[in-house]
Amino acid sequence: MSQLNSTYFTAEHQTLRASIRQFLEKEVMPNVDAWEEAGEVPRYMYQKMGEMGFLGLSIPEQWGGSGLDFFYEMVLLEELSKVNSGGFGAAIGAHVYLSLPHLLKEGNDFLKTKYLKPAVEGKLIGALGITEPHAGSDVAGLLTTATLTDGGFLVNGSKMFITNGVNCDYYVLAVKTEPSAGAAGISMLVMDGHSPGITRTKLKKLGWRASDTGDIAFDNVFVPQENLLGELNQGFLYIMQRFELERLSLAISSNALCEDAIQKSLEYMNEREAFGRKINRFQELRHRIAKLSSEIEMSKAFTYHVSRMYNDGIYAVKEASMAKLLATQLADKCTYQCTQFFGGYGFMEEYPLARMWRDARLGTIGGGSSEIMCEIIAKMVLDGAKY
Ligand SMILES: Cc1cc2nc3c(=O)[nH]c(=O)nc-3n(C[C@H](O)[C@H](O)[C@H](O)COP(=O)(O)OP(=O)(O)OC[C@H]3O[C@@H](n4cnc5c(N)ncnc54)[C@H](O)[C@@H]3O)c2cc1C
Repeated sequence: MSQLNSTYFTAEHQTLRASIRQFLEKEVMPNVDAWEEAGEVPRYMYQKMGEMGFLGLSIPEQWGGSGLDFFYEMVLLEELSKVNSGGFGAAIGAHVYLSLPHLLKEGNDFLKTKYLKPAVEGKLIGALGITEPHAGSDVAGLLTTATLTDGGFLVNGSKMFITNGVNCDYYVLAVKTEPSAGAAGISMLVMDGHSPGITRTKLKKLGWRASDTGDIAFDNVFVPQENLLGELNQGFLYIMQRFELERLSLAISSNALCEDAIQKSLEYMNEREAFGRKINRFQELRHRIAKLSSEIEMSKAFTYHVSRMYNDGIYAVKEASMAKLLATQLADKCTYQCTQFFGGYGFMEEYPLARMWRDARLGTIGGGSSEIMCEIIAKMVLDGAKY
């Protein structure tokens, strides 16, 4: 185990880690194959995780959480990444790290009571809807409109690739309330997922198969005025602020996925023989393990440093983008190389690497692609930009 664990985590964090791991081993790992096949995580899992207190570790007690520091969330993220189902981690992650922060930071007491508390308890499932068929990286180009009407808004348009999009109970939704104003015309709404006028279509995917990813259409969907998050036309600012956590959480998950891939490879390489020797005796493979392990340790050390900044309330947009850029690229490379260690078995579904490799592929695309991370970092480093 990395020395970093004893530097950043207390005995209390490690106690939580043991309890999460025990829970996942008992309740999740025996079922992930079925959920990958079904293309969704059953609702009762959110409820169970809510009852265990895992969905609101750092959410204030007033809203059903435990009010703990960010390192407890890191423990959860790391353990979720080691159940060999990126889709399971994505489903829980989208609920906790994408939908809840908007409710907590920008939600009024009405929204916190109606959505945040039951979501922390696992009674409601949340999704964050920003991406659209024609606007992903270019958030300001989104086209879904919310027009003022009696007592609220009428929403028209569509969202694409939304994690939990098919089964969620509410959407935290980015909409244009001032269509001609670009980024300055975006607002965030909480839309009840069961409102009339919503059509949800489940998408088939390369990886993250246990999460229900949806293409969602809105036809005159009514959203009451009190479901506006924060202030009108301030949505772009809120989205950018929340991206810091999304990117950091993807970096943490990617590093943990790398560690799991290496661990599984070490076990396999100690069993498999070729040319009369265990394959872990071949220098070529040993050196690859050495190089990957070094890169993982570096990526993890940097990500932990950024996590401390985040925990301490220090502005870390540049560093979180850097951590996401490096860790997701490393997970892609690491799972690719670990698949190679397994030879033909690496390509087989009964062995863990096939799923790990295809799940890792999304890291450099989702939550802001590697190219967009480079754009942000370049603007901050070269032009002194602030987000
Ligand atoms: C499984 C899955 C789950 C997802 N979950 C969610 C979710 O829960 N909520 C949500 O809102 N979204 C979600 N997304 C969407 C995801 O965040 C977007 O796919 C991502 O931001 C990229 O947007 P895009 O697909 O429209 O690609 P595009 O923006 O069309 O980009 C296409 C290519 O062009 C590159 N590119 C774009 N702009 C630039 C530029 N300025 N400079 C250089 N290169 C550029 C991109 O990096 C990419 O390589 C999910 C996606 C997937 C696949």
